[in-house]
Amino acid sequence: MKKIEKRAVMCLLLALILLAGLALFCVRFALDGGRWAGFAANRHLYNSQGQLAVGRVLDRDGDVLSWPGEDGSRHYYDNATVRKATLHAVGDRSGNIGTGALTAFADKLSGYNLLTGAYSPLGEGNDLYLTLDARYNYIAYEALGGKKGTVGVYDYTNGQILCMVSAPTFDPADPPNIQEGDDRYDGVYLNRFLSGTFIPGSIFKTVTLAAAIEHIPDLFQRRFTCTGSTDVGGEPIACPRAHGDMDIYGALANSCNGVFGQLAAELGADTLNEYVDKAGLTGSYKVSGIPTAKGSFDTGSTENQLGWAGVGQYNDLVDPCSMMVWMGAIANGGKAAVPQLILKTETPLGIPGSFYRKHQTKTLVEEDTARTLADMMANNVSQTYGSGRFPNMDLCAKSGTGEVGGGKAPNTWFAGFLRNADAPYAFVVLVEEGSNGSDTAGAVASKVLDAIVNGY
Ligand SMILES: [Zn+2]
Repeated sequence: MKKIEKRAVMCLLLALILLAGLALFCVRFALDGGRWAGFAANRHLYNSQGQLAVGRVLDRDGDVLSWPGEDGSRHYYDNATVRKATLHAVGDRSGNIGTGALTAFADKLSGYNLLTGAYSPLGEGNDLYLTLDARYNYIAYEALGGKKGTVGVYDYTNGQILCMVSAPTFDPADPPNIQEGDDRYDGVYLNRFLSGTFIPGSIFKTVTLAAAIEHIPDLFQRRFTCTGSTDVGGEPIACPRAHGDMDIYGALANSCNGVFGQLAAELGADTLNEYVDKAGLTGSYKVSGIPTAKGSFDTGSTENQLGWAGVGQYNDLVDPCSMMVWMGAIANGGKAAVPQLILKTETPLGIPGSFYRKHQTKTLVEEDTARTLADMMANNVSQTYGSGRFPNMDLCAKSGTGEVGGGKAPNTWFAGFLRNADAPYAFVVLVEEGSNGSDTAGAVASKVLDAIVNGY
């Protein structure tokens, strides 16, 4: 009797192990099945050159940016500038651009689903509509004028990215032979918007300012004087010129390094670290599944280094996409929609292939502080950048000039948002080796926002 009981327990145990294994497989299948089927060696989906042989990539209003030909090779839109301007969103034939839809969204293009596996009804794969408008990308790429950099614009209420350009770029229909060390193609496979980190310069002052608004009670009663060089921790923090006498509004509009260096030192390293993390600049977002690069913030070991860190120099690095979301959160009362690149997918029969829901960030800034920051950034536009450059826009913005050293011209930035109810857009523009933020990057922002708000 004892023996039988023992065997029954053994059988039960084996059955349980089998069930557990089956359950694990089912879970892995549901989670990773798309990736297994999308694996580049799967000859049902990839041609002999390893190019995705199914699925079309379209922009938000239905322009077909890439489609598979009869022989399974990849075709691209017939305008070369559009092809270059959408390279980092669509992807190249060799799969070098990791953020391109052909690579990042291969499972959605292949029409993978749990019921029929990789085989869509007509064997053609899916139509994948990006949130981008190819025309905005075209305008942004032209506005960069051959310079390296990036442009991103998105709707902070629903997360849809309308414009995402990274330069340098190349024509995916006629890819060049890129040699190691060729400066024209430096970092060409990197999507600077999602995957790059850069010295922010003065756009970072918005974060230091958020901390100062909440921690320095008499901030708005204070007067500041800038002689062109301010002592912080026994060493100077320099400005490009003497900004003279001003209040905190003036300090932001002048982008006075001396004032923000002093404020950073007064706030202290712990407080600044807390606000940079809260602003989401050291974290990562998932943009339709693509992780953004994490920025970094280092307050150094001296008060002067802390001062420079609060000014957006020293070792500060930010990812342009995260900076755009920070701008969106200021615009939207403290939380913004997480950016997304996929508008929808459709099977060849026109049936929606997947559903997407909006994701919201956590609170990046308190609501009252966001409102104050927005008013101060609107004042920047009327006082310094010029409202006339941005017709029909209730624009709030901050320029930046990130000194990169090594005898190179600075990284120039222009970041901000519109408060227009019918145009709820946040944006970031980075132009490498520009002259200054308001002139170089501001001009790019002006062209792109004009097309989006006032039509093209
Ligand atoms: Zn100054």
